Amino acid sequence: MSTPTGEPSFRQSVDLMFNRAAALLDLPPGLEEKIRVCNATYTVRFGVKLRGEIRTFTGYRSVHSEHMEPVKGGIRYAPTVHQDEVEALAALMTYKCALVTAPFGGSKGGLCIDPRQYEPDELEKITRRFAYELIKRDMINPAQNVPAPDMGTGEREMAIIADQYQRMNTTDINARACVTGKPPHAGGIQGRVEATGRGVQYALREFFRHPEDVKQAGLSGSLDGKRVIVQGLGNVGYHAALFLSTEDGCKITHVVERDGALENPAGLDVQAVHDWILGHGGVRNCPFGTYHEDGVKVLEAECDILIPAALEGVINMHNAADIQAPLIIEAANGPITAGADEVLRHKGAVIIPDLYANAGGVTVSYFEWVKNLSHIRFGRMQRRQEEARHQLIVDELQRLDEHLGGAWSMTPDFKQKYLRGADELELVRSGLDDTMRAAYGSMREVWWGRDDVTDLRTAGFIVGIERVAASYQAKGI
Ligand code: GLU
Repeated sequence: MSTPTGEPSFRQSVDLMFNRAAALLDLPPGLEEKIRVCNATYTVRFGVKLRGEIRTFTGYRSVHSEHMEPVKGGIRYAPTVHQDEVEALAALMTYKCALVTAPFGGSKGGLCIDPRQYEPDELEKITRRFAYELIKRDMINPAQNVPAPDMGTGEREMAIIADQYQRMNTTDINARACVTGKPPHAGGIQGRVEATGRGVQYALREFFRHPEDVKQAGLSGSLDGKRVIVQGLGNVGYHAALFLSTEDGCKITHVVERDGALENPAGLDVQAVHDWILGHGGVRNCPFGTYHEDGVKVLEAECDILIPAALEGVINMHNAADIQAPLIIEAANGPITAGADEVLRHKGAVIIPDLYANAGGVTVSYFEWVKNLSHIRFGRMQRRQEEARHQLIVDELQRLDEHLGGAWSMTPDFKQKYLRGADELELVRSGLDDTMRAAYGSMREVWWGRDDVTDLRTAGFIVGIERVAASYQAKGI
């Protein structure tokens, strides 16, 4: 199956990227093929009675690699969902998990549906039925296959899936770990909703810690003042844009949405634009910037950083040559086709690839899964003890101050900041930051360390494939 631009399909695109990296590795005969292929895809068609008639839905759960179990990956609700897409996304999950050392194989699910056409109670009925079909075949199971949110799904759907699993497995003490991305009051974890966007921010921060890497993109300095185009202000794009603009000094000069784009060279107020979109369904008539009808064209505008955060294939052979961004970070899965990737690389653009850039979601999912299996909130045992130990130091410093006759004093908010033990959200962010830094380090080592590797995507794939291969070899496969 090829795309409307005559390019390879999304799955073929992922395979081409895989092949480019695998060709540089010395894998035992046959192992390359074993890793590349998708192990299984389960297709389900089920009927749900809605508005007085039975409607039939088609859903998929694809398992790419079971070198580690459970396998992990989101469930997408979109009218464009099809087998090829789900398999491509499942493959990306394998390499993504390996790159950020989340101990999972790769999987993905999808339901061919436009969720905006349905009421919440109808979506609940549909989700319960889809979950039932997957659960009874162990395609959802805390030890075997753990879904999460993706495009078109969120906390509500995950809570329904968890509840459905619990109803069907009443004696499973680990039932809550059957799915991640649940709301905190239903076994979720703080910071999961923001996680993918937060991961994009941490990835960029890490990139800008390395002046040689920044120079490679023809840029200099820090994130402060950088002009950013964000495509898609959904969960991932919104959080990434919000954090980059309010915490790192980036200027979000353009937001591209389904119905057009918004421009403000001084920097858009991300929160205000997001609120407007929620209330009006798009950016048309939004008073916070200049409206452009042709949103896709805006991807070609001048900027320092381009963040495609919506669908796959938005940067393709049609527009790759005209993209001006020197640095592109793939917040979405597969936004750049294999052909466009080649064009952009030859132009000298640096691409921070999806398998690394959007791994924040699955990283925090990993923390949630561990929390569910350990049945205890992170920090619950240590927090007050940590505070007590900090209090000892503060008391000592105060004693010293008195001894010096008040000649030295603490910075005003030091005491308050230092005394407070870390809560779950801080621990999650710290774990995510650490993960993003470590994964970048391993990619970077390959990028700079090998003469035959000239881009971060190939480097990321090499790290991921090597880890998956090591895992298969350890099992004797
Ligand atoms: N759907 C997200 C992704 O593509 C998250 C997957 C997960 O948390 O398991 O990475």
